[in-house]
Amino acid sequence: MRRATKVRLYPTVEQERFLRGQFGAVRFVYNKSLEVMSHQYNRHGRKLSAKHDLKKVLPVAKRNPRYAWMKEYDSMALQQACINLDRAFQNFFAGRGRYPRFKSKRRGTQSSYHCTNVEVGDNWVKIPKVGTIKARVHREIFGSLKSITLTLSPTGKYHAVVLVEDGLSEPVKPHIIIEDAVLGIDLGISHLLSDSSGHQEPNPRHLSRSLKNLRRKQQKLSNTEKGSRRRAKARLLVAKAHERVANARADNLHKLSRRMVDENQAVIFEDLNINGMIKNKRLARHIADAGWANLVEMATYKADRSGKHVVKVSRWLPSSKTCSSCNHKVKAMPLEVREWTCPGCGEIHDRDINAALNIKKAGIQHLLAEGLSVTARGDLRKSDSSVAVGETRSLAA
Ligand SMILES: [Zn+2]
Repeated sequence: MRRATKVRLYPTVEQERFLRGQFGAVRFVYNKSLEVMSHQYNRHGRKLSAKHDLKKVLPVAKRNPRYAWMKEYDSMALQQACINLDRAFQNFFAGRGRYPRFKSKRRGTQSSYHCTNVEVGDNWVKIPKVGTIKARVHREIFGSLKSITLTLSPTGKYHAVVLVEDGLSEPVKPHIIIEDAVLGIDLGISHLLSDSSGHQEPNPRHLSRSLKNLRRKQQKLSNTEKGSRRRAKARLLVAKAHERVANARADNLHKLSRRMVDENQAVIFEDLNINGMIKNKRLARHIADAGWANLVEMATYKADRSGKHVVKVSRWLPSSKTCSSCNHKVKAMPLEVREWTCPGCGEIHDRDINAALNIKKAGIQHLLAEGLSVTARGDLRKSDSSVAVGETRSLAA
């Protein structure tokens, strides 16, 4: 299994200068390649591959005195810029993302990827052409080192994402699943999530507070003059507010996904068309806040590492309109209806918990179709009912 650990770096002033240069070189290769590819495509209808065509140009370009400065930096990092651009184009062609944009020094996180001659120690990482950088390694990193990705956040913090292959295989997922240990999850707006056991998780309040703070700082930024010192300061404050929101959100989602995976054998989600929803502006805001896609991703990652199942059922499932007790289907279920009484059996439903129960049912059908058995509790001998096994410490992804 591959494991990623993110550690904070403390480069010296000199190393920092070099790293900024390296991020710049990576950005330059990315942007130059994007420019060439766009031109070839728009002018001549030629589709170049960043991975195959442009990566090969790099060593040639370095022989040109104009680009000789690139030799100062790790060539793997420059090649990876082409590979990343290639991925961005593939996502675009597959309809998963927008047309690649030029990278800016001022926007987003800067990064560079290193996979040869890298090392990691108790309190340092080693990167080609930079040497040893001081690091705070908060947990033991074991296994064979695959790569180190350096990042610089908009708030000026340096990190290294250390990727290792730990030599362990993924745990086997159970073939016999107890029905009580299957959790259906309905992701929502009034609540972040409602589950089939009746639990509802509110949208975190601290998040909306920090969002308000973020908006205020953004307003301040837009009132400053371009290129001014005040603007640079305001931009840093916005980045810091952003970072706080992102950290609080990620913490919450890590806790929630850890709990649902630890306490169950299978977690069922609806396969949401997040891209389609984001086109709906009002919904988009909520989705971005709630981080649905991140939650599903984190749960899937943790489940694979703890030997648990994650199932995504069809988004066309009429989960809100169907009674989970008698399967009676009502014609319409407007969004504002929070509670309803089933005309078929008289059961009173919370809209979202009922949906979660239907999602659980569909998930069980899916597990059965895969040849697994789902059984009611009590059908098992004690030794088989290992429900909450697995690692309990949280993985910082
Ligand atoms: Zn009913």
